[in-house]
Amino acid sequence: MLSFKQAFIQRAFLTGLIGIVSVLGDKGLQNGKSEIVRAISDNLTHAIVGGITWTLVLVLSKQSLTENLRRIITCFFMSSLIDVDHFITAQSWDINDATHINHRPFLHCTTIPVLIWIIMYLIYKLFNIPILITYSWMILASFISHHLRDGNRRGLWFWPFGSTQPIPYYLYLSLCMVFPYFIYWIMNWQLTKHTEELLLII
Ligand SMILES: [Zn+2]
Repeated sequence: MLSFKQAFIQRAFLTGLIGIVSVLGDKGLQNGKSEIVRAISDNLTHAIVGGITWTLVLVLSKQSLTENLRRIITCFFMSSLIDVDHFITAQSWDINDATHINHRPFLHCTTIPVLIWIIMYLIYKLFNIPILITYSWMILASFISHHLRDGNRRGLWFWPFGSTQPIPYYLYLSLCMVFPYFIYWIMNWQLTKHTEELLLII
């Protein structure tokens, strides 16, 4: 069991790390010598931010990181794989084609993860599968952390309603750092409610 001070330091470290990794990734994106270096640096940043986001959710929820390592790795890869839609839309594996498409590719539409979250929540409610609560948040964590970072350049895209303005730099960094706390609060509330309902049935 961590002391209050240790727990605080661990949370502050991970929160700060999300900001630091994002800033370093943005520098790589601006200063990368070639298209491929910029793309890899940007994609790796998405992956690391996605992984740390779920790590922080686990730390806040007081869950074991080693037992949940697979979920951290899943968020790492999910945050990275979102960019595969650039290649699908360009119908080419050439990085130059993928980074020069003239519209935003479909996995960058924020309506999609929100809809997936709602559908998974409804399936959980209908069929009583509580693990879907965690899985739905893992998907949302991976997508939203990715979309917020991209949103600094292009805004958030809510098809069919349109897009927001680009998210100001420090606002995007703050949102990325606050987002795991938001997930923790809502997810824990849902899980606690589920347990209470179970106890009522018993
Ligand atoms: Zn992207």
